[in-house]
Amino acid sequence: MKSKYEVVIGLEVHVQLTTKTKIFCGCPTEFGQAPNSQTCPVCLGLPGALPVLNKQVVEYAIRTGLATHCTIAPRSVMARKNYFYPDLPKGYQISQFELPICEHGHLEIETEEGGPKTIGITRIHMEEDAGKLIHGDTPETVGASFVDLNRACTPLLEIVSEPDMRSSDEAIAYLKKLHQIVVYLGVCDGNLEQGSFRCDANVSIRPWGQKELGTRAELKNINSFRFIKQAIEYEIERQIEVIEDGGKVVQETRLFDANAGTTRSMRGKEEAHDYRYFPDPDLVPIVVSPEWIESARQELPELPEAKQERFVREYGLSLYDAEVLTAERAMGDYFDACVRLHDDGKACANWVMGEVQRRLNDEGISIAKAPVSPELLVGMLKRIDDNTISGKIAKTVFDAMWTSGKSADTIIDEQGLKQVTDTGAIEAIIDQIITANPGQVEEYRGGKEKVFGFFVGQVMKASQGKANPAAVNELLKKKLQG
Ligand SMILES: [Zn+2]
Repeated sequence: MKSKYEVVIGLEVHVQLTTKTKIFCGCPTEFGQAPNSQTCPVCLGLPGALPVLNKQVVEYAIRTGLATHCTIAPRSVMARKNYFYPDLPKGYQISQFELPICEHGHLEIETEEGGPKTIGITRIHMEEDAGKLIHGDTPETVGASFVDLNRACTPLLEIVSEPDMRSSDEAIAYLKKLHQIVVYLGVCDGNLEQGSFRCDANVSIRPWGQKELGTRAELKNINSFRFIKQAIEYEIERQIEVIEDGGKVVQETRLFDANAGTTRSMRGKEEAHDYRYFPDPDLVPIVVSPEWIESARQELPELPEAKQERFVREYGLSLYDAEVLTAERAMGDYFDACVRLHDDGKACANWVMGEVQRRLNDEGISIAKAPVSPELLVGMLKRIDDNTISGKIAKTVFDAMWTSGKSADTIIDEQGLKQVTDTGAIEAIIDQIITANPGQVEEYRGGKEKVFGFFVGQVMKASQGKANPAAVNELLKKKLQG
């Protein structure tokens, strides 16, 4: 049944950049170090310390803007966003407000109903992260809170979408697309668990046909695709209930409780004017020349969509296969390395998406850690092509390559897996099988052709899978009919 309400979702994504150092000082950005070990007067917010903008952050912002079809501002300005929080020692966050570096972009997503949909990107701006509060949970520390400022001044891009999404599925499709792009660009490691890619969702509902947006609730800082979907769906239900009960949705920030699968009110939502934004007098405006934009454009890597098109065009893959192979940049690179060594795109794709992917899933590792390199895989594919082994034996060889790291040739030699193509040897086996199974021979000759499969199975078994299947078929037919 169609709901009475239309769902409206806009997303704000915080992308942590992979720069070696922080946005306004030279401190390292490495994750998981001892508290406050990666700080200096600038990121501690000590009076008189002056920020200097990290050029790499601007470069990454430009790249992200170009990949999402944004206009890159020739001049943009860093602004102070004033608010107090114990993990923000300066009393303000340096961000961008009126003049962000990128605006007016878009992404295309695939919808559940099928067909593409364009989601607008309002703006992308650069900003610094705050520190982290750690709440004591041992008998000695309970009730106390600690501040770790290692994360303070870590560079972020905030990517703000238009309220163009109409379901949690569309929101997830958009997030996955954006995630894929920033990882392809190399500007973000994409690690959701460590908070490198986190999302605030603005959710509201309105009766179908109503032009004005309903009052929205903002769901804060959710860092898994599954939780974002859950949080949005819970929030939609909650708002419908409030309205159906004759109440009003209030504008507020809500926290998602992953254990309960619910959201709860955290605070009233601030409006931009509450922050008293003003241009940061310590930082000069950022001027980006057309030449800089052009060179960034030249250096953009091949993005997922372009890669998919190329895989379809050059290797005759289906679009679905091309999508699977480009879901992760490393997977696409692996496939590319295979086809550079072996000009059979379909065979490479089948093995990468089949056996390679299966082993990766089984062991929960990424393709970067696969013990079978493209060189090893292709070495084996060549032995299938030249009939040294059958496709079936190849699976045995592949498994042995995976566990031993040895080449296909070594494994074939060591385990004596070479395919038997010598027709004399195969004929001898066939003769044995025919003699041993007179009943089945009679059935076959009596027109029961299904029995043929039985004979193939027996011959393959007797040859320990090594008989060449094509030769077996041909010789068996001859002998049985004869
Ligand atoms: Zn610092």
